[in-house]
Amino acid sequence: MTDLGLTILVVIICLVLGLIVCILSGIAGSKHYFVCRNCGEIFRPKWTQMCFNAHVFDEHLLKCPFCKVKGFCGDKGKNFNN
Ligand SMILES: [Zn+2]
Repeated sequence: MTDLGLTILVVIICLVLGLIVCILSGIAGSKHYFVCRNCGEIFRPKWTQMCFNAHVFDEHLLKCPFCKVKGFCGDKGKNFNN
């Protein structure tokens, strides 16, 4: 195998591993409850939303399914009871 072929292989493996980590974290995140800063509703996002969103600590940039406003939502954890 040439050096170029090896480099391409390493890049592909990194991308695949990155994608797997992304999907797993998305699935884990979709089991959490989030509170909308705009309307105060509690919701659970789809895992696809959680895969590619930006987040700072427990604040995730999500689109609220109730008021349709995209903003930072606080993570309330897996077992949130209101
Ligand atoms: Zn809302």
